[in-house]
Amino acid sequence: MSNLTIEKTLVAQRITEINESATLAMAQKSRDLAAKGIDVINLSLGEPDFNTPQFIKEAAKKAIDDNYSKYPPVAGFLDLRKAICEKFKRENGLLYEPNQIVVSTGAKQSVINAVLSIVNPGDEVLLPAPYWVSYSEMVKFAGGIPVEIPTTIQTDFKATTEQLKKHITSKTKLMMFSSPCNPSGSVYTKDELKAIADLFSQYDDLYVISDEIYEHINFVDKHVSIAQFESIKNKTVVVNGLSKSFAMTGWRLGYSASPLHIAQASIKLQGLFTSGANAVTQIAAITALNSDLAETKKMNAIFKTRRDLLLKIVSDIPGMKLNTPQGAFYVFPDVSFYYGKSFNGKLIKTGSDLCEYLLEIAHVALVSGEGFGDSKCIRISYATSEEKLVKAVERIKIALLNLK
Ligand code: PMP
Ligand code: GLU
Repeated sequence: MSNLTIEKTLVAQRITEINESATLAMAQKSRDLAAKGIDVINLSLGEPDFNTPQFIKEAAKKAIDDNYSKYPPVAGFLDLRKAICEKFKRENGLLYEPNQIVVSTGAKQSVINAVLSIVNPGDEVLLPAPYWVSYSEMVKFAGGIPVEIPTTIQTDFKATTEQLKKHITSKTKLMMFSSPCNPSGSVYTKDELKAIADLFSQYDDLYVISDEIYEHINFVDKHVSIAQFESIKNKTVVVNGLSKSFAMTGWRLGYSASPLHIAQASIKLQGLFTSGANAVTQIAAITALNSDLAETKKMNAIFKTRRDLLLKIVSDIPGMKLNTPQGAFYVFPDVSFYYGKSFNGKLIKTGSDLCEYLLEIAHVALVSGEGFGDSKCIRISYATSEEKLVKAVERIKIALLNLK
């Protein structure tokens, strides 16, 4: 479902070899329809519908008045990096020095910094599938080879150490995963993470990118980071950011904690390509990270209520198979029951066909599982009001029942 129709011969090969972000492409399609006056319900984008908490906005306003208008240090202001170290210590029991922290223009930037710093052309990168859409394209961009490890609803979409071990070769350099997971909502337990850490610590040159952007959107347990296992801490890049925990997607602030050489490589990249993150946002981020998370916890409770509602109403739709997401704000149903069916002569063969059909007929925007490495599923974001969720699912149900 691409919006961008770039003529292959006009741009460099590295651009034609990667896919456009499936999430952002669908969000744009939904905006385009809405601009034509169509009442679209957009459940495509993983973006909290809440506004940024007032105390963070006040900190940003003050930062503007205090003239934070110059280039910040490429790695981020020292005070912010210290606040991030404190956060890791307080919330995750992880000890880092400020020179291991790199502040970036979003977790997305932190992930690509790490991928470009670790992956050489030809290196294999393990991606337990479903994975977040950007991972596979980032790996390809770095010249690496994405190695998908398919998981199923039966294992709650989590990769086992047996599966991981089977895919490790002499070329394997990295594994990338998110927990809580976008798109499955799965959360790896402490024991599962320890087993993976034990396995990986047997290999000398195997890194992990642990994307923890949904840390605070977790309905089961206290968050566990794989970096808490000393055996692989110095091979792990922890990525996090403010987009989800503080409803700050548009502010663009992420960060990584890593071994020093990866931090320095990331600074080198950012110094050449972005100059670092917005100065005003950085100052506001200090306030956000030092806060008591009361606002974050309120948002988490609302997401949980919405998850429960969505699971209940979606499970009424015939043919949908679901896991119970334990975090993030997505459900990822297997909708393959509908493949091979059609409406008015239009055959639904794939998740993309189904999403296109649901957008056209039901005016609900969702994202196909193909970009996430699981073509049987589609992703529904519940980062929106209960009222919209109920209305969207009613529309989806009617449209699906019309498929014969
Ligand atoms: N990782 C995952 C798993 C995500 O879902 C997202 C989407 N926001 C990001 C990273 C990027 O977040 P940011 O807005 O901080 O760039
Ligand atoms: N991460 C969110 C999502 O998966 C926002 C879009 C994006 O950054 O790709 O929908």
